Amino acid sequence: MTTNRKKMVAGNWKMHNDQTAALGLCREIVQILNDEKRNDAEVVLFPPFTALSAMNKLLNGGGGIQLGAQNMHHEDKGAYTGEISGGMLTSVGCGFVLIGHSERRQYFAESNSFLNQKCHAAFRHGLCPVFCVGERLEERESGVMWEVLSSQIKEGLAGVSASSPRFIVAYEPVWAIGTGKTASADQAQEVHAFIRSTLGELITPEIAMQVTLLYGGSVKPDNAGELFSKPDIDGGLIGGAALDARSFCEIVKSCPTS
Ligand code: PEP
Repeated sequence: MTTNRKKMVAGNWKMHNDQTAALGLCREIVQILNDEKRNDAEVVLFPPFTALSAMNKLLNGGGGIQLGAQNMHHEDKGAYTGEISGGMLTSVGCGFVLIGHSERRQYFAESNSFLNQKCHAAFRHGLCPVFCVGERLEERESGVMWEVLSSQIKEGLAGVSASSPRFIVAYEPVWAIGTGKTASADQAQEVHAFIRSTLGELITPEIAMQVTLLYGGSVKPDNAGELFSKPDIDGGLIGGAALDARSFCEIVKSCPTS
């Protein structure tokens, strides 16, 4: 089966960088990527909401960098104090949105069915959801990780069909996020192959082959190359290392050209 999947590197800045710091980091990344020979990897930055508008103006649709938000609400508008809708995100230049990061699942009790509503809301607004899945350490050790991952995908992406717009899945084992413990490239590949085959059951094998699958969890310049060389790993969702322009750009450069 042939595929035209491009590599992608995405930076999740989490709750770091006020507007001034975000613009500074964004400028540094643009400069390094412009000065050094770029491969054809897609680059997406996920700053805090408060920096989106200013970064959109700075990037001005250029620099080969796309913007995403770290979360959204599933309703289009209404009395939901503190929430942000899909339309608000597209109005400040977002093309992507993270859905179901493990920190949202853990600290804000976001369930698979709740996340499913967000995915469909993202589609409605022309946003590409980056749907995050991943097992906790005890789930891996007790052998229930495959059921956990399967439910996250089948419930979180329920109703996604061959005619749905683009979506991305990020595999982020919870035990590897911000801990310095990376899944080995073979462990990550095994799970990515499982995710692709589960997407094949949910949608069709042909669509599953077109879906960009990102790995996240302590990706650094020195382990990115090996991870990204695996057949089902199409790039990375980077946390800590995305806060340093040089490290982030080294990770972008370690993508093999498609
Ligand atoms: C993340 O939280 O999405 C992440 C992958 O973090 P880190 O790279 O710091 O492990």
